[in-house]
Amino acid sequence: MSNTIHSIIQKQTAFYQKGCTIDFKSRKQRLEILLKSLEDYTPEITRALKKDLGKSHEEALMTEIREVRKEIEYTIKNFQKWAKIKKVPTPVTLFGSKSRIIPEPLGKILIIAPWNYPFNLSVMPVIPALAAGNTVIIKPSELAPETSSVICDMISKNFSSEEIAVIEGGVDETSELLNHPFDHIFFTGGETVGKIVMKAASANLTPVTLELGGKSPAIVLKDANIKTSAKRIAWAKFTNAGQTCVAPDYVLIDRSVKDDFLKEIKKSVVSFYGENPKESPFYGRIINDRHFERLEKLLKNQKPVTKLETDSKARYIAPTVLDEVSTESPVMQEEIFGPVLPVLTVDSINEAIDFVTKRPKPLALYVFSENKKNSSEVLLKTSSGGACVNDAIVHLSSHHLPFGGVGISGMGAYHGRFGFETFSHFKSVVSSTTKFDIPLRYPPFPKWFKKLMNIL
Ligand code: NAD
Repeated sequence: MSNTIHSIIQKQTAFYQKGCTIDFKSRKQRLEILLKSLEDYTPEITRALKKDLGKSHEEALMTEIREVRKEIEYTIKNFQKWAKIKKVPTPVTLFGSKSRIIPEPLGKILIIAPWNYPFNLSVMPVIPALAAGNTVIIKPSELAPETSSVICDMISKNFSSEEIAVIEGGVDETSELLNHPFDHIFFTGGETVGKIVMKAASANLTPVTLELGGKSPAIVLKDANIKTSAKRIAWAKFTNAGQTCVAPDYVLIDRSVKDDFLKEIKKSVVSFYGENPKESPFYGRIINDRHFERLEKLLKNQKPVTKLETDSKARYIAPTVLDEVSTESPVMQEEIFGPVLPVLTVDSINEAIDFVTKRPKPLALYVFSENKKNSSEVLLKTSSGGACVNDAIVHLSSHHLPFGGVGISGMGAYHGRFGFETFSHFKSVVSSTTKFDIPLRYPPFPKWFKKLMNIL
């Protein structure tokens, strides 16, 4: 394994140094090949996602394949504009010079992906990395082995390993990769491994993007449209059986509307998945036994208001809404990352804001209110990677918005132009004329020069 990794990295270094990734035509070609491969492999990808996560065909198309396709198409259309050399003004003190910013690729990129959207999160960052003129190594998650294998097949059949390579595996393979000096590491995963990645990167001063998780709150104010809020929160939470980094982790609800909200969210769950979600083709499964057991433990001593049903063999946990949850309970101590939604009561907007600001900065925050002043107050007084008003998770599907965390939920961002910027260096260049040379910059300085400098 070590030799394979070493040899791929050497090949990518040589390929990059020969300038093979630089011209726009070859970047565009690579993106077009990626688009075509996506189309060709769609049946295999959806089959793999079904096996790994019980993901329905529709959900796989909506949350994994369509998102990646949209991003490739948008990038093909726009990357040459983003990659243009930009002329900028020059200060008068540099009279006779011109200034430009030249976007240049970083070089070799390592992308480490998680298992929850195993296709999307492995391939999405490849798009801006290629558009910016880099080579890429993808390390998909070993916990979604079927999808990992399809990604490996799709890439190796369509690209030379000098351009893009896939290294499958887990901790050993990732640790080996992290021993090498990349030019950027793009990591999506949990906080613990994020720290390992950042520490390893620091040995080579490699810059990192960390797309992490956390507990993203949904705040439902008393002036919210309860029916729509409940429906959107239920959808955002129970899609992919709650295994979404930006899923609402818990709800802070105004006491006066709690009963209505609980009634509506129960109705929404039934309308999505029927009376028995286990039979629904649209409801997913927990990725593995370890996560299943972790989630079952979180359910202990809780008060579900929906039917509590778990099946370890099928790794099934019903969409579960919890009422009267203590802030001290285990379910409020860690990112849930499963189909369990604690609902906590607050008495005012200030109490909700206080609750959020006293905790680590989340990846997302959702506020539901029909009053713009109230939703703006929540947005202005809290910090989160991203946010939605009267909706949840949809912000990540816009390529006009940067997607990333803040504080403990991550650093850096991508999607659209922001991804291109993540994988580029913006080189500042001053070009000076040699037609004249202002002597004043050179010593010895005349006596009056000091006075002039003070005035300037
Ligand atoms: P993880 O951190 O356990 O694993 C992510 C990747 O790191 C995998 O490829 C894995 O092989 C590798 N890895 C695991 N242990 C390692 C180690 N000791 N050394 C080196 N590499 C190691 O994350 P996960 O369980 O796959 O995903 C869940 C987490 O990811 C959640 O916290 C979730 O919020 C977060 N997430 C964030 C986003 C986002 O875009 N911000 C998206 C999806 C998931």
